[in-house]
This record gives sequence, C-alpha cells and structure tokens, in this order.
Amino acid sequence: MTAIEYVAFRILRLFRKLPFNILGVGTRKVIFADYFKDFEKVEAVKAIFGDKTGEILSHLTVELSWIFGYMYVDGSDGHLVISKNYLNNGDKTDIYLDLIHELCHVKQFMDGRELFDPRYDYVERPTEIEAYRYCVQEARRLGLSEERIYLYLKTEWMSEDDLKRLAKSVNISCG
Ligand SMILES: [Zn+2]
Repeated sequence: MTAIEYVAFRILRLFRKLPFNILGVGTRKVIFADYFKDFEKVEAVKAIFGDKTGEILSHLTVELSWIFGYMYVDGSDGHLVISKNYLNNGDKTDIYLDLIHELCHVKQFMDGRELFDPRYDYVERPTEIEAYRYCVQEARRLGLSEERIYLYLKTEWMSEDDLKRLAKSVNISCG
C-alpha cells in the first residue's frame, strides 16, 4: 500500500459506519458523534476542543440537507449543516478535512466569535485562517503532499491571487 492509499484507507474507515439512510430524501438532524466515528481521537480535533472533545461531539447537531455546496456552521445556533450531495459524492479526503475546518468554526461560535466578519476578505478573516491551520496540520499528519494540500485549499469562489494569499498564510508552498 502506498502512503496515499494508506491515507485514503484510514479516512474511509471513519466513514465506514455511515448509515445509508442518512442520504435519503428530506433534511435530517443527527448527532455528530453518532455518524462520524472516532473523530474525538483525531489530534487536530482534540487540539480544537481539548478535554471537552468527546462531550461536545456527542452534543453537536448536524443537519444533513440538500443545500448546494459543501458544509458550514449555522450562525444562529452553531450547528453544522452538510450537503448530502457533497457527503455522497465528494472526495472523502476533502470531506474529512472540511469537517475539521468546520469543527474549528463550531468552537469559535461557542466562544462567541464572529464567524462571518465582513470587515475581512474570506482568505484573510482570522477565523478562516485559524480553521485552515487546523486542517492543514491534520493533512500534513496524514502525509498528504504540499501539492495535494494546495489543491484542497482551492475552491471555485477563490481567485488565483486569493488562493496564493491563503496558501501563504497557512505556510503551504504554492504549486
Ligand atoms: Zn471556514
């Protein structure tokens, strides 16, 4: 098994217990820890929540919805909203890293921080940089290459210049 296959294998294990019915019709609310197993053991997640990791993940509500896009933290009560389509069809490594990113936003919300502060561009918002740092740290721990992490940072709403600024902020060398 190559290093990359091993990473994919380990990530897939985390998704193995996802029941198929969550991808059925309609929106469903579930508990994070019931569906995403073993995240309380992930170093990056423990770094986010500390001693309360297990407790927080076993109370965190996840809304599985037919939204367009990926996932986000709802600014009204701090629950996590995930696109069923993304969960079903997205790259599992990307989903895994996104979950870590969003868990950081969950913690920021719990701490009363403003997640969508309009004074900053997306790639310079302190809450985003912090969330990206956690998932980049986890990506490195998993052994993903700099190129793969750079690709992960790229999203369709980001310009090439924004991508480079973000990569620099999280110490990823640009392509
Ligand atoms: Zn974010």
